[in-house]
Amino acid sequence: MSSMEEALNGVKGNIAWAVTSSGRRSQDVELIAVTKTLPVETINEAVGLGMRHFGENKVQEIREKYERVSTPVSWHMIGHLQSNKVKYIIDKVCLIHSLDRMSLAKELEKRAAAQKLCISVLIQVNVAQEESKHGMAVEEVLPFIRRVQKFKQIHVRGLMTMAPHNDDAEAARPIFRRLSELKEEISQLELAGVDMDILSMGMSNDYMVAIEEGATMVRVGSAIFGSRTDT
Ligand SMILES: *Cc1c(COP(=O)(O)O)cnc(C)c1O
Repeated sequence: MSSMEEALNGVKGNIAWAVTSSGRRSQDVELIAVTKTLPVETINEAVGLGMRHFGENKVQEIREKYERVSTPVSWHMIGHLQSNKVKYIIDKVCLIHSLDRMSLAKELEKRAAAQKLCISVLIQVNVAQEESKHGMAVEEVLPFIRRVQKFKQIHVRGLMTMAPHNDDAEAARPIFRRLSELKEEISQLELAGVDMDILSMGMSNDYMVAIEEGATMVRVGSAIFGSRTDT
């Protein structure tokens, strides 16, 4: 067994454990393999192991990898997205996890309309209010969604957050719980054209806690592929 296969099996086992122990179903949690900075060969190896959802945080990398990975896979834009680069990826990604401002929503609407497509997005929330991270404050989310509701080409599917880095995964629990509560609050309003079925939270060090708190997508990189040299 390759080291990637071993690591992937380990992550899947942990996910299964967290799913079961929190009384959820395994089909409720999607594992997104985060392949930023990694070569296409690595992605192809992961495809060979059955992975089909990949997360990237740079437009340029998505463009290159989109061309070079031959098996149909789903690309997730999980990083900060500059408005002037929307046009390069709008037809290549299945979900943008990082909608965090009105100017970006307007550009998404415009480019999606031009290509006659509907783009699915998550609102990125900076629950911990870290200066170094993107995302809007918890109290800004509902007013923002009410405005985005008018955009015909944008389909809001849920929320995303990154917890502050901490070696103790438990430190992330209150952050994940708050996002989960916010998802429920908004969900109960049954806003037309808005779905709150996706909660994207949890990375290599805290995905099990995130699942216990209701994550439906976990974004895992280094726990599968080893630590990156860039970060
Ligand atoms: C890099 C990254 C991840 C994955 O991080 P790991 O710690 O390697 O699992 C998840 N989400 C976002 C937004 C990232 O930028």
